[in-house]
Amino acid sequence: MKLSNNQQEFRRKKLKELYCLKGIIECELKLKPKEGYPEKCWRNASLGFAHKDKRWKYIRRPEDLWTFKETILCCVICHQKIECDRLLTLSFFKRLRNN
Ligand SMILES: [Zn+2]
Repeated sequence: MKLSNNQQEFRRKKLKELYCLKGIIECELKLKPKEGYPEKCWRNASLGFAHKDKRWKYIRRPEDLWTFKETILCCVICHQKIECDRLLTLSFFKRLRNN
């Protein structure tokens, strides 16, 4: 099942509402600065969804793309830190989503 851009946007909006209902309104990662990434977590600024898998992996299961179990709400700084670290990403999904 392929989703149109409108369908994707609708699902993304619904997911945002779900996070609000759950009271998750700031970065869930809150990573500390580390070597090579000196910037601190922005907490509630520039928030977005980090996905468990790379985008191309959702092509065959687009219905999973905007779901709670496949996403974590995080600031752009923390997102960058986990983006290229597969093990770190998976460890957060294990801890925060039991997934
Ligand atoms: Zn953050």
